[in-house]
Amino acid sequence: MANTYDAIVIGGGPGGYSAAIRLGQLGKKMLCVEKERLGGVCLVWGCMPSKALLHVGEVMVQARELKDRGITFGEPKIDLATLNKWKSKMIDDLVGGIGTLFKLNKVESIAGTAEIVDKNTVKVGSETYTCSNLVIASGSEPIPLPNMERNGKTILNSDDAVSLTDLPKSILILGAGVIGLEFATIYKRLGADVTVVEMMDHALGDTDLEISQALLRILKKQGINVHLKTKCASVEVKGSKVSAKLEGELNETREYDKVLVAVGRRPRTPKGIDKLGLQMDRGFIKVDDKRMTNVAGVFAIGDCAGGPLLAHKAMKEGVVAAEVIAGLPAAYDPMAVPNCVYTDPQVATAGLSEEQAKAAGYEITVGKFRLAALGRARTIGATDGIVKIVGDKKTDLVLGVHAVSPMAEAMIGEAVIAIEMGATVEDIGLSIHAHPTFGESIMEAAEALHGKAIHIANTPVKA
Ligand code: FAD
Repeated sequence: MANTYDAIVIGGGPGGYSAAIRLGQLGKKMLCVEKERLGGVCLVWGCMPSKALLHVGEVMVQARELKDRGITFGEPKIDLATLNKWKSKMIDDLVGGIGTLFKLNKVESIAGTAEIVDKNTVKVGSETYTCSNLVIASGSEPIPLPNMERNGKTILNSDDAVSLTDLPKSILILGAGVIGLEFATIYKRLGADVTVVEMMDHALGDTDLEISQALLRILKKQGINVHLKTKCASVEVKGSKVSAKLEGELNETREYDKVLVAVGRRPRTPKGIDKLGLQMDRGFIKVDDKRMTNVAGVFAIGDCAGGPLLAHKAMKEGVVAAEVIAGLPAAYDPMAVPNCVYTDPQVATAGLSEEQAKAAGYEITVGKFRLAALGRARTIGATDGIVKIVGDKKTDLVLGVHAVSPMAEAMIGEAVIAIEMGATVEDIGLSIHAHPTFGESIMEAAEALHGKAIHIANTPVKA
């Protein structure tokens, strides 16, 4: 039957497209329905455009700051039309790549909004499609704030913030989570005066406190004004400016060119979902370790199935759901989901923070290594940062690795494998790391935990 499938996936973001491709690889007849563009938030509004803008900003900063190494350029200028054209082409290429992978894996896809009729039936426009399994991968969207209505010009959400139409001289960012701090870095690099306010007493959610505090110190040195325990009580659009009233540790009313609301994301679910009787948790769909809901044959993956709201978590869940549908033994294990923040320097973490490990009842040991003692950091003039390992005192198992460091995104894979494979801190210390690399800092932190790092003073020094 033409409209009958082994599985229908609603949403073609990282979760949905990964599920679709894996189902295709496993020989299942399947259909992916996407209402906007394949690739979802990640390719079109999130990971990819934000990292492209961060890179552009980094080049501009380097062009300004390499004078002390004898390199001078003229003052860098940015042509937004050219940048946006380049960024759109990058996104088009990525989206096209998903289409090609779909064809290679015999995934059928249609453009349209899926509405759930029942657990085996989906409607798109006037067409009805039936399936043995339903995978909901409908993602998430920015949380708006009451009385701060997005207008795309002066009051922005993250979708507007990646679509640079003009460069603000000043921007107020509400929220010091990953998205808020990445945009703070983008706009600072592009020359804006950046203020970030956060209601909590710390940044970056449940990131290891010492690490988020270290990052904030560095960002403040770069001139990004971050104020914790401060909320934006109200905003008023005044022509091309916005006046914002801040309350808390910072009490002031000031005008900005733009206000970016980056206070988190909320799940997005398809119309008709209520007909399924799914168990929900604050709007997110509840799933088990196979990513199955309480209704047999209905799966949920990615942002709509709860945190962490990360593309690689969504992709893994997509693969797990596909394999479970195909009858393979698969399960999602969130033991070491890495998390990267593309600030300058980057933050990358995997496993338990010091606070989480203590709360879980571990007696912990901690090893730290500061980048000031790392040769590779000297070679690029970026010595602000720290790498930290949290170990289990009883077994020496690696519980968590946390870094504020250039290239942290590349270093964190080692930590993920160490945790997944049940490595001890000693294993990391004993492994020869190439010199000079940023990766050496993980080895040195491991050695420091046992009091035998070579390039720092260990206390106590071990025989
Ligand atoms: P989504 O990417 O949200 O995709 C869901 C798709 O479903 C959408 O395309 C939507 O159009 C479609 N859809 C919804 N309802 C229907 C329907 N009824 N019918 C048909 N289609 C429907 N994560 C990282 O891991 N690393 C990063 O560096 C990173 N940076 C980010 C930067 C920003 C600015 C933002 C906003 C997010 C970032 N993220 C990052 C998060 C990441 O983008 C998401 O976690 C990821 O996209 C979630 O994937 P998903 O498949 O669950 O959902």
